[in-house]
Formats: sequence, structure tokens, C-alpha cells
Amino acid sequence: MKSTIATIVDLLGGEARRNDLGPLIILRFGALLALVVALFSVLFHLVMAAEGQEHEWFTGVYWTLTTMSTLGYGDIVFQSTLGRAFSMLVLVTGVLLVLVVLPFGFIRLMIVWLEAQLRTRVDTRVPRHLKGHVIVSMYDDVADELVGRLAHAGVESVVIEADPVRAASMHADKVPVVRGELGMRATYENSAFGRAKLLLANASDVVNTNIVLTAREASERVPIVATATNPEGEAVLKLAGANQVVLTTRRLGRQLAIRVPVGPAKALTVGRYKGIAIAEFPIRDTRLGGLTLKEAAVRTHTGLTVFAIAKRGHLERGLPGTVLREDCIGLAAGSSEQVDALNRYLAEGASEGGRVVVIGGGRVGREVVRSLDARGASVGIVDRRPSLRDALVEIADEVTIGDMTDKRVIEQVGIRTASSLVLTTNDDATNIFLAVYCRKLNPDAIIVSRVTSPANVEAIHRAGADFAVSDSEIMIQSILAAVRGSQPMILGEGLDLFGAEVPRSLVGKPLSDSGILARTGLSVFAVEGKGTIEAHPRPGRILGKGEHILFVGTVSERDEFERVFG
Ligand code: ADP
Repeated sequence: MKSTIATIVDLLGGEARRNDLGPLIILRFGALLALVVALFSVLFHLVMAAEGQEHEWFTGVYWTLTTMSTLGYGDIVFQSTLGRAFSMLVLVTGVLLVLVVLPFGFIRLMIVWLEAQLRTRVDTRVPRHLKGHVIVSMYDDVADELVGRLAHAGVESVVIEADPVRAASMHADKVPVVRGELGMRATYENSAFGRAKLLLANASDVVNTNIVLTAREASERVPIVATATNPEGEAVLKLAGANQVVLTTRRLGRQLAIRVPVGPAKALTVGRYKGIAIAEFPIRDTRLGGLTLKEAAVRTHTGLTVFAIAKRGHLERGLPGTVLREDCIGLAAGSSEQVDALNRYLAEGASEGGRVVVIGGGRVGREVVRSLDARGASVGIVDRRPSLRDALVEIADEVTIGDMTDKRVIEQVGIRTASSLVLTTNDDATNIFLAVYCRKLNPDAIIVSRVTSPANVEAIHRAGADFAVSDSEIMIQSILAAVRGSQPMILGEGLDLFGAEVPRSLVGKPLSDSGILARTGLSVFAVEGKGTIEAHPRPGRILGKGEHILFVGTVSERDEFERVFG
């Protein structure tokens, strides 16, 4: 229940704040105080008269004010019980109004004033010259990361924020922000939606529907990408006018599933960059395990160049002496035909993938099972919610209901005999615990894991997971792909492809002397000249002026590149 004081404060300032009329608070308070003092002064004379005392009118005001302010000189006093009760009433009212409500009112006035100041700090309109930008509807950690990555890709963005205080703090943090309500057409017009590259509706499914409908009033033409949490939301958003709907849980499930080997080892084209196919391939249980890149002769057999090997989120540049260790994943660049050739090459002498265990039967876990089932894998699933049993029995070969942190359940599920394990619980701590435990029980298994917070990526890799990806990475890659007009490319959590013009300090130098890998950790996979693109350039390749280097690495490595060579 709202307290009396809060109600009085609200009466004094609530509406004024909403209407942006700060000074009204003081006026209202002054009027209320004057009314109360006048009323008590009149009552003073009536009670005094009842006691047989008589005072001039000014004394009434003087007594009321000294009593209300708790000064109470004691020069004028009531003798009767009624008079004393009246004195107490005046005193309590005074304490309430002067000592409690006034400071509250003052603080509220300050807030109103501050808000008014902040309101003027953030514009409600983007600059006239802005075009080809990405409009982001809601600011959160994912949006923050996205804005940074878009900036690296040379794409400007602007985030819509209705709250002036939040908008001002975003502005102070150098986030490009425009103030506006998501449900108003003017917001999209003021954000230059008609000239934008795309609009991202990344709030809840319901709010996104409103965003899409409202923005469509401002422009029919500009693409809208919306995020959805369930398939029903996806259908509604498409109906409302979204060009693309990113159902994160489905994409995440599919990305995890494709990392699980089923049947003979296969290279997986994870994406294309400027016409070059980028493929990942497993090394474990293939003819390549333990060989150096030179011995493996992948280029001779397939034409494809292995530019890096990745072990649990870390890249190592592919040099002739690089050993293709069983616990690593190879990254290769070339044409689609060359990827097919690699598949044929890998299939010879490879062992078949065995049983897969999926831990966690939520939306992501079930999507993993469906994807693996479609590829003919034998899949077991575990979840602690008995209510999921029927849904899981329908899609998986074996279903276990139990908590995976329980030792007996871990034994029952058959972790030791599984060839791959997919961790899909929505709790990073549980996934990290399970990665450590499962790795201990089964050192040879492929462990693929979901992470909720990108901050836990290092930890899950250290715990023993071979591949990890988060909901936010899926979302970011999907949006970046929509901006580039390509398919999303998921190289593993945090890894991305970047392009940069050859920095002045490196012009005329051979790639091997550039120190890019040693100083930044980025792995170069191609050099793009005028109209030509050279996948996996030789170490002696001289870097020319105006050429572009294409590399794989993390965002912080890319930042390091700018710091070192910028
Ligand atoms: P999403 O739908 O995004 O996949 P959920 O939270 O619905 O996310 O799914 C996570 C699933 O993982 C839940 O069904 C939950 O019961 C299950 N889960 C979480 N922790 C454990 C655990 N320790 N053992 C077994 N199942 C677990």
C-alpha cells in the first residue's frame, strides 16, 4: 500500500513531474501550507475563546507557525485538554509537512530539473547526413556488442531509447542514441528509417510486433529484422511485416548440432566471405590426426588451404609445421568444390560417429535432438523436468529424467560410452560443471556447449568443451549477416571474420614480417587486391598499398590490430 507521505508527495509533485512543470511543485506546496496555517490560525482563536482567552489575529498565525516548526517558545499556551490536543495536532501536522514533505518535494523538484536538463542533452532526431545506418530498437548487452561490431565493419548505428535519463547515460557512454517512443511513427521518421540499411526489432515478441507495425507506416521498403523467442512470435512478426525473423533458440540448437560429428567425418561450410567458402573440419578420428600440415598435404589433395587450427576458442595459424592435433578443429578457405574434395578425402579411413547425449531438454536441447535425428544419429536426452518426458520421448531414442548434477544420473546416462555430448542447460555454472565432469569420465568425447553469458566462454573452454556458442553470438552474427547480405557465419563464440586495409606501416612488407599474428593473435586467411582475392597467401606475399587483409580472430584482437597498426 502506498504510504501517506508518498501519496502527499505524489499529489504535490507526481503530475507536475509527468507534465514537466517543476516549479508547480513549490507553488502547490506553498498553497497547501498557507491553507493549513490559515485553518489552524482560525481554530486557534476558537479554542482560545473556549478557554476564555483573547488574542489579536496576528498572534494566531505566529503561534501556528512556531508550533508547526517545532520551535514552540511557550509564551502562548493552552490550559484546557482540548487546547493541548489541538496543540498536538498542529505539531504533528507541522512535522509531517515541514520536516518530511518539504524535503521530499524539494528532492522531486531537483529530479524534475535534472530530467529537464538531460532531455535537452540527447537529440530526438538523427543528423541529416545519416544514411545506410542500422536502427536498434532496444539497448542491452547484445545491442552494445552489436553496435561495436557494426562500427568495426564501418556501419553506423543508432539506438532508440524513450527514457531521457537512460538516453543521457548512453550518450555519456558514447552509444549513438536517439530519444523516442517505440510505439510512435515519428520516432522512426526522426531516426531516418527511410534512409536506413535496416531496423532491428530486438525487444520482446509482443513489443517487436508493435515496432514492426509502427515502423512499416514510416517505410514499406527498408528491411526489418526481428528477434523472436518462440515459433508463434516468429509467425506473427512475419505477418506484421518483418523481412527476417531470428528465432535464436532454433538457430542456436542447429549451430550446436552441426558441430556434432555424425557418420564419417565431414567438413562444414560455416559461411562465405567475399566469395571464399570458409569450412571447419574435425581432426579427431580422421586420417589427418597427428600429422603436420605439410604431411597432411590437404592443399595438394583438395586445393583447399588450412589457414588455422582452433582449439577450444583459440586460433593457431596454419604453417607447414603446425601439427593437426586430435583435439583441434581445422579452418580452411577455398571454393565449394574444394570443400567437397576435402569431404571425400576425410571420409577415407574415418571412423563413424557413435551415440550422442544431449543434456537439457528445453527449446535449444530439443532443436539439437531434432537436427541430429534428421541426420540419422542415435540420440539420448536428459532433463530434470518430468513434465518434458512426453515431448522428449517423441523426438529422442533414449530419455532420462533426472538432475545431471546427481552422480547416479550421470552414470545412468552413459557418459563414458557417448561419442559426443551437447550441453544445453540455460545455466552456465551447470554447463561448466558438466564439461569438467564429462571430460574426466570421457576424455575422447566431443563436447559442445551453449553459454548464456559470453563472459563464461573462456571458462567453458577451459572446463573441456570443444565448441561453445551463446544466444547473443547467434543473434549478433545473424544481424551482421543481414547487414552484409550474406549467410550468418558462426566460427565459435567470439570468433569473427574481419577485413582491414593494409596499414601504412605494413605496405611493402612481406606477410611473414608483418607480425600480425604475433602481436594481435589474428590469423590472416586472405589478401584482397584490386578485383582479386588470394586465399591463404604465401608468407612471402608482399602487402600492397590499398589492398585489404582478411583475418579471423576475436573482437579484442581486432581492437589490438587497430591499436598496434592503426
Ligand atoms: P531454452 O528453452 O532456452 O533451451 P530452458 O531453460 O527451457 O531454456 O532449458 C534448459 C533445460 O535444461 C530445462 O528444461 C532444465 O530443466 C534443464 N536443466 C537445467 N539444469 C539441469 C540439470 N542440472 N540436469 C538436468 N536438466 C537440467
